[in-house]
Amino acid sequence: MVERQPGKPWDVLVIGAGPAGALASLDLARRGLTVLLVEKRSFPRWKVCGSCFNAQAQAALASVGQGHLLEHLGGRPLRRLRLGLGGRETTCALPPGRALSRGRFDQALVEAAVNAGAVFRPHTTAQLGGVTPRTGTQTRSVCLRQGQRQELVQASVVLVAAGLANRSLEHEPSAHTRISPRSRLGAGCVLAGSHSRWEEGTIHMAVGRQGYVGLVRVEDGSLNLAAAFDRALLQECGGAAAAARQVLAEAGFPAIPQLAEAAWQSTPALSRRTTPLAGHRFLVLGDAAGYVEPFTGEGMGWALAAAVAATPLVLEGTGRWQPAIERRWRELHRQRIGRRQLLCRGLALALRHPTSSRGLFWAASRLPSLPQRLLRCP
Ligand SMILES: Cc1cc2nc3c(=O)[nH]c(=O)nc-3n(C[C@H](O)[C@H](O)[C@H](O)COP(=O)(O)OP(=O)(O)OC[C@H]3O[C@@H](n4cnc5c(N)ncnc54)[C@H](O)[C@@H]3O)c2cc1C
Repeated sequence: MVERQPGKPWDVLVIGAGPAGALASLDLARRGLTVLLVEKRSFPRWKVCGSCFNAQAQAALASVGQGHLLEHLGGRPLRRLRLGLGGRETTCALPPGRALSRGRFDQALVEAAVNAGAVFRPHTTAQLGGVTPRTGTQTRSVCLRQGQRQELVQASVVLVAAGLANRSLEHEPSAHTRISPRSRLGAGCVLAGSHSRWEEGTIHMAVGRQGYVGLVRVEDGSLNLAAAFDRALLQECGGAAAAARQVLAEAGFPAIPQLAEAAWQSTPALSRRTTPLAGHRFLVLGDAAGYVEPFTGEGMGWALAAAVAATPLVLEGTGRWQPAIERRWRELHRQRIGRRQLLCRGLALALRHPTSSRGLFWAASRLPSLPQRLLRCP
């Protein structure tokens, strides 16, 4: 573990302690860098997410010595997808995955980062500042706000992993986030109690005309519900609980009486893209870099894979920063994540149209290995 001398800039400051930020902090700290991980919420925290970890997520964790983590935390093995559409159902095999609540997973990953030597500051909102000084060995300043207290800290490299609702680049003139005008909105909740009608080990996916709802049993047997809805459906129904009830009914899934009393959380528009993905002494990763739709359940895989892929560039960038680092990050991101996001976007678009969604359903029922092939990660 490396001790940081007081007043010396951090090697790396990471904004956001979700999967992208926590894994990057862990990997960089264990390589001997001084890492400050800043998170605006208190931990553990729940977040809207299907809570399904695919092969890419598991491989990224394994690559930093955390291959045991999901199992150790009680993550339930996932083997099947049960798809409901227009009152019909089909069940297909899935590549092996695990279901684990975000509260438990994110907290454990932060703890692993702290054990590796990272310093964690919750309840603190970070905002990327300017480059200082203009000449000599430069650092990036970051403004940290905790209640009324404000502090300016310096880091050689800043990783922006602040998720969908990222506002930490607001003062960076080069950065811009484009939100797709037809983007769906995310919503989710956890339903405690007995849910024997929703079999463990299966992702239950109800597809309706204006959205979809995914249900999975997590480590303590509770039912994690995550959904993407058209804005119009949420307005018509007056909220996420009624929208979920409508999508489940359209798909032919049983009604869930507890939906109305559940504590729902929502997300901002899901489909978005940030440009550029890197600038002088900063890289953007995870949902903060861009997201499409949750239908294929890959977001954490992308976030974790990006965290691991960023490490060599950060190690290089803590010394002299070269514009080539920014170009390489854009290219790496496009190859490792952008291509999969294109596939996910295509599937989500197909699901919006009755003919193509019926076609997809028909193909999945005739070829039960199709989802396995589509969801197999490179
Ligand atoms: C409905 C739905 C279902 C999904 N289902 C799945 C699934 O089954 N499987 C899967 O792999 N993915 C799924 N995803 C995607 C997954 O949840 C995200 O892709 C993943 O959480 C991205 O991780 P991240 O670290 O980039 O961001 P996040 O997990 O969002 O973490 C970002 C963190 O940054 C913090 N933060 C924000 N701003 C600041 C700031 N200024 N200063 C300090 N901290 C800040 C936030 O509080 C947050 O804790 C789903 C998403 C949705 C919406």
